[in-house]
Amino acid sequence: MSDQQQPSTPQPPATATGPDSGTDSGAVAARLAAVRERIAAAADAAGRDPREVRLLVATKTQPPEAVLEALAAGVDLIGENRVQELVAKAPAVADRVAAGELEVHMIGHLQRNKINQVLATATGLETLDSLDLARSISDRCVRDGRTGERGLEVMVQVNVTGEESKSGVGPDDAGALATAVAALPGLRLTGFMTIGAHLDDAAEHTVRAGFARLRAVRDDVLASGAPGTGSATELSMGMTGDLELAIAEGATVVRVGTAVFGPRPKP
Ligand SMILES: *Cc1c(COP(=O)(O)O)cnc(C)c1O
Repeated sequence: MSDQQQPSTPQPPATATGPDSGTDSGAVAARLAAVRERIAAAADAAGRDPREVRLLVATKTQPPEAVLEALAAGVDLIGENRVQELVAKAPAVADRVAAGELEVHMIGHLQRNKINQVLATATGLETLDSLDLARSISDRCVRDGRTGERGLEVMVQVNVTGEESKSGVGPDDAGALATAVAALPGLRLTGFMTIGAHLDDAAEHTVRAGFARLRAVRDDVLASGAPGTGSATELSMGMTGDLELAIAEGATVVRVGTAVFGPRPKP
């Protein structure tokens, strides 16, 4: 898995600053280059085209300056966990979002009273885990005239590990939720998201099995042919510690924070 392979995606220019040199200018670009190499190597090892795997940069706890550094290095998809941070950083990235150069996904649990803020600032939501929430969001989109292609892009979050601490619908219920979500007029179902078991707590094969489970959920939903499910092709899975395992199991989006920005300060 960690074999060095030739990256086949375009790399940003290397900088004089090493990947471990804190938040100095250039450090984010250098770390991003290393992450892109990891993605390319993992795709290669899995016999996949690296262009099938999109990098989402997880920007929680990072200041706008760090986010802008990532954007300058070619990042076109970021994810926020908390609505408060999403809203706080929105002005810094609004121009790029408006220009269609940047997508912003909500990747943390969403409370119903924050729906309007998410609709105003995010281009997608990866953490849909109840039909109630889905209906509320859809209703508001419809009210705003956002239907069909202009509906909010959503993924259904699936809890593949069964851990109580994790959000998401259980894998056995994910298909039914996805089918119902896909039929709502204000939403566009693009796929499925999961947070894998932590490699410190689980064996590699257990983590992989969780990712394989998410792929099976997606494949079943796609095979159902139910209205609106044809676009549900994405698998958002894999983070700094396990992106190789996720890519081996078919990830189309990996969400990476630590490997791009360095360790987050402990809360
Ligand atoms: C923080 C976070 C990530 C990125 O995790 P790293 O281990 O820092 O790469 C990915 N997905 C979600 C939902 C997160 O909260």
